[in-house]
Amino acid sequence: MKIAVLAGDGIGPEIMAQAIKVLDALRSDGLAIETEAAPVGGAGYDAGKDPLPERTLSIARAADAILFGAVGGPQYDTLPRAMRPEQGLLRLRKELSLFANLRPAVLYPELASASSLKPEIVAGLDIMILRELTGDIYFGQPRGRRETDGEREGFDTMRYRESEIRRIVRAGFDTAMKRSRKLCSVDKANVLDTSILWREVANEVARDYPQVELSHMYVDNAAMQLVRAPKQFDVIVTGNMFGDILSDEASMLTGSIGMLPSASLNARGFGLYEPIHGSAPDIAGRNLANPLATILSAAMLLRHSLHQEAAAQRVETAVRKVLAQGFRTADIAETGKRTVGTKEMGDAVLAAL
Ligand code: NAD
Repeated sequence: MKIAVLAGDGIGPEIMAQAIKVLDALRSDGLAIETEAAPVGGAGYDAGKDPLPERTLSIARAADAILFGAVGGPQYDTLPRAMRPEQGLLRLRKELSLFANLRPAVLYPELASASSLKPEIVAGLDIMILRELTGDIYFGQPRGRRETDGEREGFDTMRYRESEIRRIVRAGFDTAMKRSRKLCSVDKANVLDTSILWREVANEVARDYPQVELSHMYVDNAAMQLVRAPKQFDVIVTGNMFGDILSDEASMLTGSIGMLPSASLNARGFGLYEPIHGSAPDIAGRNLANPLATILSAAMLLRHSLHQEAAAQRVETAVRKVLAQGFRTADIAETGKRTVGTKEMGDAVLAAL
């Protein structure tokens, strides 16, 4: 089983090195995996003036899954749009049709104090948000700027075809079937035609899943309910823009952006796995970054693309163990408590494994 390893920029290489240690340990124990590294993002630009070099794309295509670090950095901010690091990631998603973004928001009991909400509201939180990733207002045409009645005007188009809605909603139902069989579809059907269609299609797909309880919620209410009573949710499915915002909100419920993995899957189950955070240039190269989101992304990769449930659970159990043992990087430590660096956290996971 081949894994393409795209570490990227900023803290990307540091956190990836820890995940690779974990994968190497699993290989020594007999798991048949091979990894191949390639540059992406700013590193791709530095190597060959392209955020997604041809060779990187072919390594990604030939692999069974991609483990991705993070891309971006201030040194690339003034490049023309097509050369910018995030284009590497956006093009990978498009090229490989990675339309389903799975973002778990799990609060480990040991980290309850890191949440901005009261422990009793978030303790035991375990929700999964499915965000559509390749359509909606982020890609709809026409878009642009023009002059209207003597003033500047900007415009974008929210657009979904029913086939795009059907496949992500179906992925939502499939995910709900593996969990507690509750699915909440989030839209803005009181205002948007796109959302009226979304709701219609969701209800049609529901007929194939009689065991799953489907509910609908307007996005403004969902944003409120996520901070009022987040544990009412199990699986949420929604469009690209609403999902972008709600999944960031949900991640903050858990306290640290450095803890959360994600998966972006296509119809064949091929996926790109990455921490939800960016390249954190403010702490890059200082052994400060939390590697756990990347290590947990590797666990998701083992589960969803390589079908190695036992190995995935081994990694997740090791992460729970180091948290229980009290290991904390600075982002998840209580004030005044001892912290460890990126590398030491990786070593601790390895020892727990
Ligand atoms: P960011 O997620 O990189 O950082 C936000 C804050 O969280 C920073 O203070 C950072 O130090 C902290 N943080 C992030 N990851 C951490 C970790 N693992 N451990 C400890 N602390 C961590 O977001 P940003 O600052 O808005 O963006 C920085 C760069 O990353 C930009 O160039 C942006 O475009 C890029 N970015 C990339 C991705 C991606 O590759 N998928 C996602 C978001 C942002």
